[in-house]
Order: sequence, then C-alpha cells, then structure tokens
Amino acid sequence: MKTYSVRLFEHINTFYSIFLSNELPCLFKLAIVFLDKLFLLYNNYVEILSNVGDIMKIPKERRTYCPKCKKHTIHEVLVAKKRKASELKWGQRQFRRVTSGYRGYPRPLPSGNKPVKKLDLRLKCKECGKSHIGSSFRTGKVEFITK
Ligand SMILES: [Zn+2]
Repeated sequence: MKTYSVRLFEHINTFYSIFLSNELPCLFKLAIVFLDKLFLLYNNYVEILSNVGDIMKIPKERRTYCPKCKKHTIHEVLVAKKRKASELKWGQRQFRRVTSGYRGYPRPLPSGNKPVKKLDLRLKCKECGKSHIGSSFRTGKVEFITK
C-alpha cells in the first residue's frame, strides 16, 4: 500500500515539473498544487498506518496524583511485574475455594496466543516512595524516554 502511494506521488511530481516549465494559466497551476498537497496528506496517512508496529515511547517521569500524598507529585514510571499472589488475599482464597472439589476451573481457559502482551505501568511517587498501578494496555515494544 505504501509503495503504491509513493509511486503515485512520484508520478505526480514528474507531471508537476513538466507543467511548471511551460506557461500555464494560474488556476490550473493552483489545481495541481492542491492535488500535490492532497497526495502529501494521503502519504502521511499511509505512513501513520504503516508505523503501527513501531516502538512505543513512554516518558520516564510523569506528574500525576499520589493517593498517599493526596496531591499531584512527580512519579517514576516503571513496568509492573507479575508478583506471586498472597494466599491470604481474598481473590486467592476464593480461587482455592472454587477450584477445590469435583467441579473444574471456574472460567474458560484462554486459548491461543495474543499478538502482543498486556503491559501495566507502575507509578512510584518520588516524595513518599509509595507506588501504585497506573494504566494498563497492549503494546509490542516499549521504550522509556527522558523529556
Ligand atoms: Zn506520594
């Protein structure tokens, strides 16, 4: 799709140079310029579509609300890793209760692989040191950048 648009763009460019060399009515020239702009826009749109699989850039620091300080502070952005669930937590107790006995698993097991993994962001407050989970979303590659 991208190569096709680029080819079209080259085609238009050659026409453009031919028309510019001759003396042409002003309106016609304007129409050509308009077409050129349209193709540029289309090209940009195609580029955006084709860059879907690229690396996602996330800033290392973010100013957001801290539930402990009860105000907006600067937070460090980290990737939250899966921790071992405590056996005393309500969810884990419920899971043990539901899976015990003769009935099987409480919900259908996920089948197949997803193309991208889900990512959780852990936000660590720089004032009090407490951290909480921020947003979670699906992405391929992630890169943390400094602003
Ligand atoms: Zn805090």
